[in-house]
Amino acid sequence: MIIGSHVSFTSTQLLGSVKEALSYGANALMFYTGAPQNTLRKEIDEELTEEAHALMKENNIERKNVICHAPYIINLANKKDPEKWQFSINFLKEELSRCEKLGVDYIVLHPGSSVGLPEKEAIQNIIDALNLSLENNPSCKILLETMAKKGTEIGSLEELKEIIDHVHSPLGVCLDTCHVNDAGYDIKDFDEFLKVFDEIIGLQYLFCIHLNDSKNPCASHKDRHANIGYGTIGFEVLDTIAHHPKLKDIPKILETPYVGESLEDKKRIYPPYYFEIKMLKERKWDDSLIEHIHEKYKLQ
Ligand code: FE
Ligand code: FE
Ligand code: ZN
Repeated sequence: MIIGSHVSFTSTQLLGSVKEALSYGANALMFYTGAPQNTLRKEIDEELTEEAHALMKENNIERKNVICHAPYIINLANKKDPEKWQFSINFLKEELSRCEKLGVDYIVLHPGSSVGLPEKEAIQNIIDALNLSLENNPSCKILLETMAKKGTEIGSLEELKEIIDHVHSPLGVCLDTCHVNDAGYDIKDFDEFLKVFDEIIGLQYLFCIHLNDSKNPCASHKDRHANIGYGTIGFEVLDTIAHHPKLKDIPKILETPYVGESLEDKKRIYPPYYFEIKMLKERKWDDSLIEHIHEKYKLQ
């Protein structure tokens, strides 16, 4: 099983991210090159990158299982403000070159939100923006993420297929289990869903899975992630996906919420990933997950 989680990317860059992933017992990871909600970015440090790759090799973390995520303020769909649209394109280009420097082959991208534009026009804007972003043939592949269709989000299976078909460079897809559930696809019979995915997009386009439970029912269009086994999708379905023979080479990345408490104004929250990965490795649901997380981290 190839399993990991979202990890931080701080002053120690990819080296710190890999160390964090290892502390969770992971053999895959995903990071943002800076805060996901802004575009402030530091230069990539060559030495730290080399050390990170050496550590990956030592611990059998394959390069294809290290994934970057573009910040979600990039919106390629809305061209109402041409300057903002161009800024998104330029920033995506910079992210692609940062990924090359980091030796990372995949970057996950939210296609964008139409914010008032007709969907057809929004999709065309995304296609144009991607063609511009990829004109220098970067080595890093963009993976379009399936979205919950919250608000005016673009990102149903059909919409991703439309984009893939009209962009000149090859793209891939990142399947987010919470998002497809919230968008209205029934994934409880996962083999049936995979058939649908294969018919609409094609399984060969799938390079990453975001393994999340959902706080809301199918077709709720909410996008609120829940801890594994603590949402409406449930442990059994998520465990089936994590161990599915057709998906065995694809990294599964947890983006489940931190658990914890607010102490006065200082928030103390703890990552759930070590225990969620353990549950999936043992294929056994831990009904005391929250307590175990508190026990582990409160003592530190
Ligand atoms: Fe995402
Ligand atoms: Fe996701
Ligand atoms: Zn989400």
